[in-house]
This record gives sequence, C-alpha cells and structure tokens, in this order.
Amino acid sequence: MTQRYITNNANETMSVGKELATSLGVCTVAFYGDLGAGKTTFVRGMCEGLGYNGDVSSPTFAIVNEYHGGRLPLYHFDLYRIESFDDLYACGFYDYYDADEGILAIEWSENLAEALPNDAVVVRISYGETDQQRVIEVSREE
Ligand code: ADP
Ligand code: MG
Repeated sequence: MTQRYITNNANETMSVGKELATSLGVCTVAFYGDLGAGKTTFVRGMCEGLGYNGDVSSPTFAIVNEYHGGRLPLYHFDLYRIESFDDLYACGFYDYYDADEGILAIEWSENLAEALPNDAVVVRISYGETDQQRVIEVSREE
C-alpha cells in the first residue's frame, strides 16, 4: 500500500510523520530524499507521535540518535557517511537491528542497500512545485 501526501510547510510534514508513528510497531522506516527534502523533519514528527518530548536533530555526525520515553524507542540513523558494510557494523547498526525493540528511522537508506529488511516501511520525499512544497510517499506491506 502506498499513501501519497503533498505538504506545504515543515509542520505539515511533521504531521504526516506523527500520524504514521501512531500506527507503527517495532519496524524499520527507510527514508529516501535529497538533502533538505524533510527527512529529519518527518522523523521529528514521528517522535512527537510516539509521545517523546524533546529536541530531535540530525544525527549526521553521531550517525545515530536515540529517543526514549515515548510509546516505543526510536533510533534515528543518518547513513550519509556510511560507505561499506564495515562502516555499518562499526556504527552499531546491527546491534540495534538485532535488538528488535524499537523503530529504526534511517536517513540515506541508499547506503544500506541489500541490508535493508524486506518489510521496511519506505518513505520517499521529493520537492514539489514551490519552495515549501514536498511530495511524500509512504509505502508499507499490508
Ligand atoms: P533532510 O533531513 O531531508 O536533509 P530537513 O528535515 O533537515 O531535511 O530539512 C528540511 C528543511 O526544509 C527545513 O529547513 C524545513 O523547514 C524546510 N521545509 C520547507 N518546507 C517543508 C516541507 N513541506 N516539509 C519539510 N520541510 C520543509
Ligand atoms: Mg536529515
């Protein structure tokens, strides 16, 4: 099933993330979209939907940020700098994956390639017709 949304500002993108998060159990959410598309903004909304109260920022340098205290923990990865399986192991990705106890939200999933689970929820965000417009496609198994 693929759902398509058009948003016209960051708050609307957060709302889509918030709504999605309320419907998720333990799973992987794989993001695709250019720099500035709104992936981190979407994850911020997901955290809000889980009931996490706090700041959500890009984990580009940390590789992973953890958000605890909501209905499920959310582990927010930014794999922009990951170039190999060795890098993926080194950043602890598989430890989180094997623990299987929260939501893995992964920016730059392109760099995971075959390591991405088959049943991942896929979120694609692209630019729309105006500066602030985004087209968001959420695909998930039913
Ligand atoms: P990414 O993680 O994909 O690089 P960010 O979420 O960090 O992107 O940044 C998105 C930027 O675009 C933010 O500055 C945000 O305010 C802005 N923006 C403008 N319109 C939208 C929109 N419709 N949805 C999401 N972000 C938007
Ligand atoms: Mg980001």
